[in-house]
Amino acid sequence: MRLYRINENVRKPIIAGNWKLHKTLQEAVQLVTLLKRSLPADQDVEVVVCPPFTALSETAEVLMESGIHVGAQDLYWEDKGAFTGEVSAPLIKDAGAGFVIVGHSERRQFFHETHETVNKKTKAALKAGLAPIVCVGETLAEREAGKTFAVLEDQLKGAFLGFTQEEIRKVIVAYEPVWAIGTGRTALPEQAQEAHAFIRKEIQKRFGEEAAKALRIQYGGSVKPDNIGSLMKQEDIDGALVGGASLEADAFAEIVKTAGKAAREKEVRSCCTP
Ligand code: PEP
Repeated sequence: MRLYRINENVRKPIIAGNWKLHKTLQEAVQLVTLLKRSLPADQDVEVVVCPPFTALSETAEVLMESGIHVGAQDLYWEDKGAFTGEVSAPLIKDAGAGFVIVGHSERRQFFHETHETVNKKTKAALKAGLAPIVCVGETLAEREAGKTFAVLEDQLKGAFLGFTQEEIRKVIVAYEPVWAIGTGRTALPEQAQEAHAFIRKEIQKRFGEEAAKALRIQYGGSVKPDNIGSLMKQEDIDGALVGGASLEADAFAEIVKTAGKAAREKEVRSCCTP
């Protein structure tokens, strides 16, 4: 019998919306105001929105005491200094955010993010008390060449080099197959589950059973209200990182509610199946 509890101390599902380069300040405030209305504060699911830097503090202000958290989409690893254009973890924290996405495939692809920079950024986020959402995932060519697991192993090794068990417990991993991001092509729930189970196993090998069991692993890639339920039913899928569908309040709220329902059913199933 496997225990999966929403309350107590393990693996509360987490749904995060990555707004990417979208929303003016006014649009951002409008969106979070709608979300606050549709999502009661006592969700079984942890909810995070990640607006552009320009809207971090205002969205955090609107969402204060709403139960919905705010995250940034990237950070720089130095706290301060002559680094024109960069935003550090302490500044993100100061803006009212509690989370930060690290190593999104778009940053790896367009902004030369490497294992080393992902590692430094993740460490900097933890040092400032931000919860990092660390993205990993293979391209279509890598999947077709049978390299999915090798790529994931490499990315995890790089991201968490030198990490302690204690640090790993504060991290969230997002498995985002690059071929599923913004393409409308979602991984099959079984395909995603296979990758999530692999990620958990890797964490177990390097950081032990407890850390692996506690690790929350989100799936990302064309998540919509009509596919989140089947994804969340999978044993090792603990939430989602949502791009396009997080830009619209109704769709994002429905994803959160469906994820909560699926997680509750999963809890019942695992608690009561002999
Ligand atoms: C993402 O940006 O992380 C993402 C998963 O995007 P989408 O949901 O649009 O595929």
